[in-house]
Amino acid sequence: MAGLSYRVCARCVMDTTDPDIVFDADGVCNHCHEHLRAIATDVFHGEDGRNRLEAIAEDIKRQNRDKPYDCIIGVSGGVDSSYTAWLVKDLGLRPLAVHLDNGWNSVIAVSNIAHQIEALDIDLYTHVIDWEEYKDIQRAFLKASVPDVEVPTDHAINAIMFSVAQKFGIRTVMRGGNVNTESHHPPRWSQGHMDYGYIHDVHAKFGSGKVKTFPHLNFLQFLQLFRGGFVDTIDILNFADYSREKALARIESDLGWKDYGGKHHESVFTRWFQGVYLPRKFDFDKRKMHLSSLISTGQISRDQARAQLQQPTYDEALQEEDCDFVAKKLGFTRAELDAIMAAPPAFFDDFDSWGKRLEGPVARAAKNVYRSVKRARG
Ligand SMILES: [Zn+2]
Repeated sequence: MAGLSYRVCARCVMDTTDPDIVFDADGVCNHCHEHLRAIATDVFHGEDGRNRLEAIAEDIKRQNRDKPYDCIIGVSGGVDSSYTAWLVKDLGLRPLAVHLDNGWNSVIAVSNIAHQIEALDIDLYTHVIDWEEYKDIQRAFLKASVPDVEVPTDHAINAIMFSVAQKFGIRTVMRGGNVNTESHHPPRWSQGHMDYGYIHDVHAKFGSGKVKTFPHLNFLQFLQLFRGGFVDTIDILNFADYSREKALARIESDLGWKDYGGKHHESVFTRWFQGVYLPRKFDFDKRKMHLSSLISTGQISRDQARAQLQQPTYDEALQEEDCDFVAKKLGFTRAELDAIMAAPPAFFDDFDSWGKRLEGPVARAAKNVYRSVKRARG
């Protein structure tokens, strides 16, 4: 995509590989503006952050005095979720940890989870996905040539967390998402996470067999999400002056956490997906998002980020090994996988989805009626 119209933000390293990027008169991108807005409204520093967090924790404890758990946390073995687990316990909360085993967990990620569960004395609920069914869904997303191949995993983990929340009467999910290290997200790079209509359509067109056990939201639950969802979700790290360095030091010393190299490389699939599939097929380099958040919060300089982007996403010999491994595990020949890599890209909008149905004329009319009733009621 590096043609005549190529342009990079004057403040961060996001560029026109995000097809929807918009620049202001000073050459600053929409992601930077959105990030600054989010920092102003969602991030709380120092003592203020800690006080707010403790007030939230006290509230949750009071509400759940008679229940076995105060909140749910998702655990992946990664830095953000491990530090979230540590912080939740530090606040004196009793979390239930939920983990999705999608068949791609690295040995280090699994051992990181085991260590933190033991060190923090947390109950763990693990859902092991039906591999043959999940493999078919992943194959379908790759054959569909969309960038959203990790969407089914994100969808499933959310669906499991919601169902576990309902089962135990838990009303709060503490998440490791945060404005400091995770921002600058172009919708086109991955979308439809909560939209099972999308997953269903991709699978119907490119999968084989029936989906019977894949954890997913139903349409009513999807609608509920627009009304605030079934649970409160709190991005706890936004209250804790979050930085990766600080979190790393803490979880290495307290939880025996070990590095697996690279953000979100808790599985070979994620490593290959972010380091090979997205950059080679779509020219989407997720490092740009992460580095841009770090620039935006003053954690690194723009020059440092640009220098990092000059490096390969990860070791090139290992990239080749991963291509062979991913092809074999998903039942493709290497030639079939290479053909997928070379096929023209497709996107969320090319498929049916619940989101799309809600944009139809009938749904629009219904929403307008709902809005005007609400307005009339004040
Ligand atoms: Zn920017």
